[in-house]
Amino acid sequence: MPLTPEQEAEIEDLRAAPKPTLRAVSEGAEAHLYKVHPVLDHGFVRMVDYMGDDSAICQAARVSYGRGTKSVSNDEGLIRYLMRHWHSTPFEMCELKLHVKLPVFVARQWIRHRTANVNEYSARYSILDREFYIPRAEDLAAQSAQNNQGRGDVLNPEESARVLQWLREDAMRSYDHYEAMISDTSPEGEGQQGLARELARMNLPANIYTQWYWKVDLHNLFHFLRLRADAHAQYEIRVYADAICEMVKDWVPMAYRAFEDYRLGGVTLSTMAVECLRRMLVGEEVTQETSGMSAREWREFQGVLKKHD
Ligand SMILES: Cc1cc2nc3c(=O)[nH]c(=O)nc-3n(C[C@H](O)[C@H](O)[C@H](O)COP(=O)(O)OP(=O)(O)OC[C@H]3O[C@@H](n4cnc5c(N)ncnc54)[C@H](O)[C@@H]3O)c2cc1C
Repeated sequence: MPLTPEQEAEIEDLRAAPKPTLRAVSEGAEAHLYKVHPVLDHGFVRMVDYMGDDSAICQAARVSYGRGTKSVSNDEGLIRYLMRHWHSTPFEMCELKLHVKLPVFVARQWIRHRTANVNEYSARYSILDREFYIPRAEDLAAQSAQNNQGRGDVLNPEESARVLQWLREDAMRSYDHYEAMISDTSPEGEGQQGLARELARMNLPANIYTQWYWKVDLHNLFHFLRLRADAHAQYEIRVYADAICEMVKDWVPMAYRAFEDYRLGGVTLSTMAVECLRRMLVGEEVTQETSGMSAREWREFQGVLKKHD
């Protein structure tokens, strides 16, 4: 259960008190506002605020005095044109603010996206909760033989049970020591000074959960989602990206459709790849040897051409 009943009541209060506004409102985003979308075993992502909607993108692109809306098909055409031609600044007119609870090792990947504003829960000031990410057995896989940065086959049941036991035991032991270090009572029941929280936390493993507020504009959010909702991203960050995709789809449906078509599902081809395609289209049989591509480039190119079910 990621939230306490008090936190859930706060969210309900916020959702029960809508206020009139002159600002652009996205019905799809309103349906998500404040709600918790659970991710992993203790994590979540929730939309705290948003600015703009599909028409705000058109408004900025047309530098319009009004809403910027011409007609739905006109707007969608414009948004798709902007996305296709990397005219990105109109997308920066929309913003999203999220509250995310995530394991520290996921946060380390996430924080590499520098074009966002972040405020993280302070483990100098506050005591971290006893909450650790423990993967499901089906997510415990062996090191991939093909990809140094990935996982391969799922571990067999005995090995998986052993790993899970170690993960749980190490997490609990570290947290027990963390609590003992910050306590003003020693293990023998004597008074002690209690180590500063900013030092005691160094004992905690990277699967402990942290939280932050994360605000980003739509252009940079799409960049994040392009990288992290991709099949090559680590599963534990991808599930967050997938949850955010569901929100963005409802918040700015036209922009999201364009993003899906041109970025998420689209590919960038090199000059060599385009040349190979042209040769293939006129019936020439092209092989890696005659393509001018390296073995890896050719493999990736074949992956693009392969029909996915
Ligand atoms: C599958 C995968 C594997 C990865 N593996 C590794 C790894 O092994 N080691 C590792 O260290 N990282 C790794 N990364 C992280 C990766 O290198 C990027 O740091 C991360 O994806 C953030 O991308 P970004 O810099 O484009 O995003 P952002 O920081 O959001 O920046 C967005 C864009 O803004 C511009 N920008 C932002 N800041 C600057 C700046 N200071 N100067 C110039 N331009 C700027 C750039 O054009 C950038 O593309 C990996 C990422 C992925 C998706």
